[in-house]
Amino acid sequence: MKDLPHDKAKVTIAGAGPVGSLLAIILSRAGYRVEVFESRPDPRVHSAPQGKSINITLSERAWQALEHIGFADQIRHFATPIYKQVIHHKASGLCQRKYGEKSQAIWSISRKKLTTLLLEQAQQEEHIALHFEQRLTHIDFLSGCCSFSDLASGKGVHKEIDADLVFAADGAFSKVRRLAQETPRFSYSQHYMEQCYVELTIAANADGSAKLLSNAYHLWPRENFLLIALPNSDGSFTCTLYLNYQGEVSFSSLNTTALVTEFFEEYFADIYPLLEHPVTEFLAKTANPLFLVSVDPWVFNNKVSLIGDAAHAMVPFFGQGLNCSFEDCYQLAQLIKDYHDDWQKILPAYYKQRKNNADAISKLSKAHFADLSAQALDNIDNQLANNIVDKFTAKQPLLWPSLEKIILFQPEVSYAKAREVSALQQKIMNEIMKIDDIHQCWQQPWIYQQIEQRATELIAPLLKIPNNPS
Ligand SMILES: Cc1cc2nc3c(=O)[nH]c(=O)nc-3n(C[C@H](O)[C@H](O)[C@H](O)COP(=O)(O)OP(=O)(O)OC[C@H]3O[C@@H](n4cnc5c(N)ncnc54)[C@H](O)[C@@H]3O)c2cc1C
Repeated sequence: MKDLPHDKAKVTIAGAGPVGSLLAIILSRAGYRVEVFESRPDPRVHSAPQGKSINITLSERAWQALEHIGFADQIRHFATPIYKQVIHHKASGLCQRKYGEKSQAIWSISRKKLTTLLLEQAQQEEHIALHFEQRLTHIDFLSGCCSFSDLASGKGVHKEIDADLVFAADGAFSKVRRLAQETPRFSYSQHYMEQCYVELTIAANADGSAKLLSNAYHLWPRENFLLIALPNSDGSFTCTLYLNYQGEVSFSSLNTTALVTEFFEEYFADIYPLLEHPVTEFLAKTANPLFLVSVDPWVFNNKVSLIGDAAHAMVPFFGQGLNCSFEDCYQLAQLIKDYHDDWQKILPAYYKQRKNNADAISKLSKAHFADLSAQALDNIDNQLANNIVDKFTAKQPLLWPSLEKIILFQPEVSYAKAREVSALQQKIMNEIMKIDDIHQCWQQPWIYQQIEQRATELIAPLLKIPNNPS
């Protein structure tokens, strides 16, 4: 590492996942000396078990952060664009829905490839030192001194590292966060979802073509459970089955070859023949839990900060855990600039800006499982409400952006604001659905005038939309 001016601090980052790696690059570019300590071996030379999902989707909030370090094109090169959702209903066949306008897409990329690319870039930065097989075991929240156990030596060797600032990017099971639970006035909550998940695969055809419509996010909503398939760049799909851990149809009850075969035949008849050994895989794999974590505060003594999943592990139903984490890094970069490297101001502002947004997307993600899986239900009120919204949005797209569009494609609208907008849309639609004979009169112009009036009153000021947006 090169010598830097004295006034720039020395930073320790625990965890070289995607967040630790991106943050290291951002801080190094801002002139800090960064040391990154990762408990696992270097993924560029060792193939390790994937752990979480095999692939991950990036949307605008992640791209914004990657563009900030000038690295978006390199990542995009290895990612697959997804332009639409294809919903495979059990009884009524396929239904397709575009994500956004024209070329708007979310992007699927291998989690390992993403981390490896970021690590390769971090390695090339002047002020970053990467250390693998170094597990953080202790931290002094006052001084910022961290203890690491050297796993490579296998001899229980420990070292102490001093730093001016410490960032804990050590993921959903963060050791730093667990140690913070021993500090005074630290609030912590962890909530397990009923659902767990296993991953299954659809291989590409022999000629490399895809067995399902490519460039699409496939979804099989089945009321209490859900199967999704994300495309990979080699023509294969990674599928995730979300299913209750216990209960009538669950990971616990489906415990024999006959029962699992019957389950796939009954609920996923169209995809069952395409999956690679789904019954064996289902029975062999351990179902992974899904949980969300909320903590307060994220910053200790303006010295040690939580970031990424360490601060806000959430469930993946909006595909936003990493997007939100990259947004943490991006906004921190903006604050470093705005406050001219004054960390006594940067860190409180970082916490204030990010905490309520992370809480908002975490709550939205949890609620979204019900929205996704409920697409299986033939609820005529829901269908009518959707038809009314579609008709209104076609006329007034700015006044009624869908929650999904804001989250995926409008990083200029915060997650917290997106949640407020969505609650107001719900309130307006509840009023509309209470109109007598709404099932008969829903096409009449006055219904849409009423929605426009209420949206202009309630939603336009939040989104800063001028009068007569159309
Ligand atoms: C099934 C599933 C699907 C998902 N899909 C999406 C998606 O499509 N889009 C999206 O945006 N998000 C998605 N997410 C969320 C996403 O995976 C996380 O938000 C993201 O991985 C967070 O990155 P991170 O770097 O904070 O943590 P991690 O990726 O967990 O990295 C933490 C790193 O810290 C290291 N570490 C841990 N403890 C220590 C220690 N004591 N000392 C040193 N190092 C340590 C770990 O080895 C690891 O390398 C999904 C999550 C799940 C479970």
